[in-house]
Amino acid sequence: MQSKRFVSILLILTLVFGMTIPVQASSIEETKKKGEALEAQKSTAEAEKKALADQLNKLIAEMDETTAKITAKQEEIAVKEDELIQAQIDENNQYESMKKRIKYMYENGNTQFIEILFSSKSIGDFLNNAEYITQISEYDRDMLDEFKATVQRVDDQKKALEGEKAELETLQVQLQEKQDEVSALLAEKAEQISDLEVAIGENAAKLKALQEEAARQQRMREEAAAAAAAAAAASQGNSSGGSSSGGSSGGGTAGPSVAPSGNGALSNPCPSAYISSEFGGRSSPGGIGSTNHKGRDYAAGAGSPIYAAASGTVTTVAYNGARGNYLVINHGNGLSTLYQHCSEIYVGSGQSVSVGQNIAAVGSTGASTGPHLHFEVWVNGTPVDPRNYL
Ligand SMILES: [Zn+2]
Repeated sequence: MQSKRFVSILLILTLVFGMTIPVQASSIEETKKKGEALEAQKSTAEAEKKALADQLNKLIAEMDETTAKITAKQEEIAVKEDELIQAQIDENNQYESMKKRIKYMYENGNTQFIEILFSSKSIGDFLNNAEYITQISEYDRDMLDEFKATVQRVDDQKKALEGEKAELETLQVQLQEKQDEVSALLAEKAEQISDLEVAIGENAAKLKALQEEAARQQRMREEAAAAAAAAAAASQGNSSGGSSSGGSSGGGTAGPSVAPSGNGALSNPCPSAYISSEFGGRSSPGGIGSTNHKGRDYAAGAGSPIYAAASGTVTTVAYNGARGNYLVINHGNGLSTLYQHCSEIYVGSGQSVSVGQNIAAVGSTGASTGPHLHFEVWVNGTPVDPRNYL
């Protein structure tokens, strides 16, 4: 009759769970992988952005350099322009003074010229004077030619400088175009990174939601397991079994449990665990009625040590489908403790144990979905809240 009740509870639980869509571990993994892929893409984009920024900085430096060269060239041209102006002035001065001399010679000079020649005291003197006059006009012509050549040379130099400046300006235009191009690429890359950051944020939120949903479903399964254990306890009682069989899988987060206030008759049976579920009534999965959790759950990594909560005698070492590998220690005065879902049990029935003795290892045998110790305290055969004794 009681096993029928057990089966019917299991059926109800199965129906209740059938209505929820279980979060697949694979979808959490996929979301994590997608997050990693997005992070990798972001790293690549960041590297590309950095390369573009470096390129842009180089271009800006190059443009600064070219600007400096253009400014220097401009100064050289200005100097050359002044030089040209002065050369043209010199040329003009020479021309004007030559014109004046020629004009003077031709206006007054004919007689003067003749006078100079006729005032010559000798033929040698005459020749000297004639030579002198010729030399004056030759000098003027040579000077004029020289000044003209200077003007031409300075003008050529100025034109060459202007050509160099034009080349620099063309280079500067090209650099500006390149800079605009790289700036546009940089902006694009920044936008891509921003998009990736949004995608990473969305993916992280999705992952969090999936993990929360998985945790919620895990809690529901544990509650179902507890209900099944309760039913099994009622229907099966003590059944014989091996002392240390069954495997373990996975690993829970381990952390020191907070010692609750009690009478201190019992010590913490699993200090490396955290309390995942307390004793007492709680909503059953799906919100139908309530279950009575007869013990306290210590979630810990598989293989974590379980210690005797007090000295006493081991009265049962057994296995059943609900409790898995479990043992019972009788402490006298009507007080007993039960340790369930063990992966291994190190003590035998009838053995005396002392408080704090390592008696078993945390596992997930029986109706359990993850490694944990289900710890019960019985007083005269009735499960009580372990918190009152710890
Ligand atoms: Zn439990």
